Amino acid sequence: MSTITENIARVRSRIAAAAQACQRPAGQIGLLAVSKTHPASAIGQAYRAGLHDMGENYLQEALEKQAQLSDLPLVWHFLGNIQSNKTRAVAEHFDWAHAVDRLKIAERLSAQRPAGRSPLNICLQVNISGEASKSGCAPAELPELARAVEKLDNVRLRGLMVIPQPSHDTEEQRAAFRQTRLLLEQVNGLLQTPMDCLSMGMSDDLEAAIAEGATWVRIGTAIFGARS
Ligand SMILES: *Cc1c(COP(=O)(O)O)cnc(C)c1O
Repeated sequence: MSTITENIARVRSRIAAAAQACQRPAGQIGLLAVSKTHPASAIGQAYRAGLHDMGENYLQEALEKQAQLSDLPLVWHFLGNIQSNKTRAVAEHFDWAHAVDRLKIAERLSAQRPAGRSPLNICLQVNISGEASKSGCAPAELPELARAVEKLDNVRLRGLMVIPQPSHDTEEQRAAFRQTRLLLEQVNGLLQTPMDCLSMGMSDDLEAAIAEGATWVRIGTAIFGARS
């Protein structure tokens, strides 16, 4: 077995154990392989080990790998922050965008989604730890943003995404994820169609995220190894 295949088996058992610990069905938790900086061949191995959802952060790099892997039925998630000049390529080449934090970007993604494609799935990134340097909308701005995004035709508002301040303390990790879940529940009360996704949890904190309701964990290092 390749290292990537072994790593995926290990991540899957971590997810299963975390789900069991909080009595959630493991099937509720999607495993998104974050392949930034790793070659297309590594993504191919992850696919052969049973993963279909791939996350990328850098547009040019992602488009090159997509071209190399065009024969595989992969679902592509864009995880990076999206500048206005990148919206067209994201709308054309991805199935999900996880880090949308402004209405203007969501409007452009909707307008530029090619006719005939299903709506682009969107998660709104929330700056849950209130870090000055982080992107993401402030929790207080989320209700208005979510209600406006919900009205757009060619995007589908699916959920919230967070990257909390790193912490080695499980309780601190859980607190940030819990706040995110409560925010989702609160905002769902204002929407026509409730959001069904919490994109939260990475290699070092997936257990805490699952305990607080994660439906997508985004795993890079624990699958592909350290990034250079
Ligand atoms: C890189 C990245 C990840 C994966 O992080 P790991 O710690 O390597 O698992 C997850 N989410 C986002 C948004 C990232 O940029």
